[in-house]
Amino acid sequence: MRRALVLAATIGVGLGVIACTTGLPLTELPQNSMVPNFGPVAQVDRMAENLYFVPGGGGNTAIFVHDTGVLVVDTKVARNGQTIIDVVRSITDKPITEIVNTHHHPDHAGSNAEFPAAVEIIAHENARTNMANTPAFQTEEGRVGLPDRTFRDRMTLFSGRDAVDLYYFGRAHTNGDTFVVFRNARVMHAGDAFPMLGGILIDRSAGGSALALPDTLTGAIDNVHNVDRVITGHASVAPWQTLVDFRDFHRLMLAHAQAEHAAGHTAEQALASFHPPEKYNSWRWGQPNSAPSAAAPIGPTAGGRAPPAGGYFATIYGELQ
Ligand SMILES: [Zn+2]
Repeated sequence: MRRALVLAATIGVGLGVIACTTGLPLTELPQNSMVPNFGPVAQVDRMAENLYFVPGGGGNTAIFVHDTGVLVVDTKVARNGQTIIDVVRSITDKPITEIVNTHHHPDHAGSNAEFPAAVEIIAHENARTNMANTPAFQTEEGRVGLPDRTFRDRMTLFSGRDAVDLYYFGRAHTNGDTFVVFRNARVMHAGDAFPMLGGILIDRSAGGSALALPDTLTGAIDNVHNVDRVITGHASVAPWQTLVDFRDFHRLMLAHAQAEHAAGHTAEQALASFHPPEKYNSWRWGQPNSAPSAAAPIGPTAGGRAPPAGGYFATIYGELQ
């Protein structure tokens, strides 16, 4: 039986917050906070009748209670499995039956192996390949956390009011980013293709691409309909329009980088001469965000040296050589 009475008051509001099994008092989730949240799992936000948002402990987790069980989207960094199981237990007696990983990174798939083996793990086929290439998934225990089922372009789980659509629109943060759409709740989990407001980490060693990112986001914007709210990879829940703004911002940065690069300017110069519209004032793009990787040298001074101080423009320049 669900502990629905206390929760019922928040249905439909979308901002309701309940305490989870930590017994913490009700606290308001900082809805406007668009910074990464690696703090402990301390609060659960009920977004719809059967959909919950669980920040902290790595990437944002969604918990979806359906007819026959519970779907968990993203399992945070390692050692959060029991915490997520406890949160689910505080919501419903139904068993956890599926996990979807938005991509392979350890802050989104890190606790996969801590769930019962009967739980079906689902991810994009490239995300599974990326996981299989990661040491944490190569041990005997780690292999349990590899996806059991993959998809290429689109997959629909469940039916009717429970339908959940998984979409792949191309390279972005990695080459295996899944957009998860909870149809009836009109909510989409975008993972780290939309992690926060500003420049993002592009994992080139896993096929990510700053050049492809705006088009991939456009794929989501043009093809996903009837969604009002977007769960970001690491920040708060955002209105759909903020995803559009995010795509537009990345288009602006890419066009500026390409023009500056063609003019023979450095990434640092591109950063200094980038003046986006005022509405982006609070967004961040000055930090170098690309994952350091020997296989994917960053910026105009590739070759093992520290990334240049070109912020997100250094990330883009890494692909413009
Ligand atoms: Zn990631």
